[in-house]
Amino acid sequence: MIDDEDFNPLADAQFETQGVRSGISRTHEGEHSEPIFVTSSYVFSNSEDAAERFSGAASGNVYSRYTNPTVRTFEKRLAALEGAEAAVATASGMASILSVCMALFKSGDHVVCSRDVFGTTISLFSNYLTKFGIEVTFVPLLDIEGWRDAVQPNTVMFFLETPSNPLCEIADLAELSKLAHLNAALLVVDNCFCTPALQQPLALGADIVVHSATKYLDGQGRCVGGAVVGHQQHMDEVLTFLRTAGPTMSPFNAWIFLKGLETLRLRMEAHSRSALVIAEWLQQQPTVERVYYAGLKDHPGHALAERQQSAYGGVLSFLVKGGREQAWQFTDATRLMSLTANLGDAKTTIVHPATTTHARLSSQQRKEAGIDEGLIRMAVGLEHVEDLIADLQRGFTGIR
Ligand SMILES: *Cc1c(COP(=O)(O)O)cnc(C)c1O
Repeated sequence: MIDDEDFNPLADAQFETQGVRSGISRTHEGEHSEPIFVTSSYVFSNSEDAAERFSGAASGNVYSRYTNPTVRTFEKRLAALEGAEAAVATASGMASILSVCMALFKSGDHVVCSRDVFGTTISLFSNYLTKFGIEVTFVPLLDIEGWRDAVQPNTVMFFLETPSNPLCEIADLAELSKLAHLNAALLVVDNCFCTPALQQPLALGADIVVHSATKYLDGQGRCVGGAVVGHQQHMDEVLTFLRTAGPTMSPFNAWIFLKGLETLRLRMEAHSRSALVIAEWLQQQPTVERVYYAGLKDHPGHALAERQQSAYGGVLSFLVKGGREQAWQFTDATRLMSLTANLGDAKTTIVHPATTTHARLSSQQRKEAGIDEGLIRMAVGLEHVEDLIADLQRGFTGIR
């Protein structure tokens, strides 16, 4: 049993083992699968116990806004997989990013953020952080000089995603963490696309990892959630913010996510395997101008991705010859893949970024970011790769 005090079989266990067994401290009724604790509050054994748990002097559950055993199991398991001291689960991916900012930063601070991050992250930083006197500078992900030039005396955080969405650009985490630390700033990485199964940013120098668990950690498109992962001291501060403000993960969702972690490595390997086959196939198609996938040898980030990731992930993009009209004809002629902006699902999804995920950008901004009118993003799911290729073929036949 795992709670044997003298021997912890997980201490040196591999990723796959941590994925299925970490985070369980004891069983309650001899159950083998993790239970869901659907309770808002907890009973104390006596008044002294209540006082101690309230003050934090004794560990133990108090109230599910900030302590729930099912949520705790998910947090411990994810922390083990990221190689982190601790994790804090949040209501969504956006809540994880907000919680980092609210817990660790203050008015007068400055943030440098990659231009190539999730659109809502850009909105959060530019429309809300600025309201509370936190300044933000956006820089192109791969422009190291740009990051260096953006630093101010009050810079507290570098924030980025790698691979980027939708062009799969690869940022050098070791290099950017050095630059951040040289300036006494934290490097915060949104590890949504790779998950710890493919990339562990903390081992490369990042200070904090944030997740949209909604994507690959669940992996089957069922619920919304997020997490912050990192040093115990930072996580204590993030948890205190959650305790105060309340963007907590529900125990139901935590259970979905912790079961998702059990198959994470297998799923990420399968997504990556199919994505590479599809990327190579797309390169052969006369209607395709360019394919963006770090697994391709001619991708500018290939060598770095090979060092930094254990596989290239499930998301790729490609440029259909022509423009918006041809891209829409393609997507509308497919029949199997889901036309949706979501990703990280067993079901393959495709989307036209210029008119959906990146529609809020001006055409000039889209041009600078390389979001062409003919660009299609694909998040390769777990269907058989030949069926996906047949559907892509259907799409191309639809281009007139
Ligand atoms: C979806 C997503 C988010 C936001 O997560 P939610 O769970 O939808 O709040 C943040 N970052 C990335 C990279 C995402 O894809």
